[in-house]
Amino acid sequence: MVTALYPGSFDPITLGHMDIATRSAALFDKVYVAVVDTRSSKSIMFNTEERVALCRDALCDYPNIEVVPYTGLTVAFARKVGATVMVRGLRMGSDFEYECEMALNNQKLAPDVDTLYLMASLDHIYIKSSLIKEIAAGEGDISHLVPNKVAVALRDRYRS
Ligand code: ADP
Repeated sequence: MVTALYPGSFDPITLGHMDIATRSAALFDKVYVAVVDTRSSKSIMFNTEERVALCRDALCDYPNIEVVPYTGLTVAFARKVGATVMVRGLRMGSDFEYECEMALNNQKLAPDVDTLYLMASLDHIYIKSSLIKEIAAGEGDISHLVPNKVAVALRDRYRS
């Protein structure tokens, strides 16, 4: 049985994140979507509980996906839940440099947890949480970029 961890901030979860999570669910026996607990960060719009709830709702049809919050080092959390693979998504070249640095550092910290990259699907390659928040702030249409509940949550956030 191979368990994978898909970590991220998911602020909020997008169709791009969902694509990576569901493709991982087809590859591995069990996938933990791990939502980093970033209480103190100013750039985070939804708190940890909200981000977890939105992820759970979006991925509820996949029995081998479990959404969990976590704190601390990602590789330490991977070991804690028995994950030997860490999944990340790659969009444009701009993701590569950051991801490369992370993967090499994690390799040193935990050689028993390997990082696997899934290329973003063509339909989702331009989807980025930060950009979605900007579009929502300008009252633009985001319904084709995020699950329904996220679109509603974003609209509510900017209305209040
Ligand atoms: P952000 O979405 O702000 O880049 P996250 O920390 O939530 O940041 O992303 C978690 C992982 O999901 C990262 O590996 C990121 O590259 C990947 N990811 C984010 N958006 C997409 C997308 N549209 N398609 C594929 N992978 C994505």
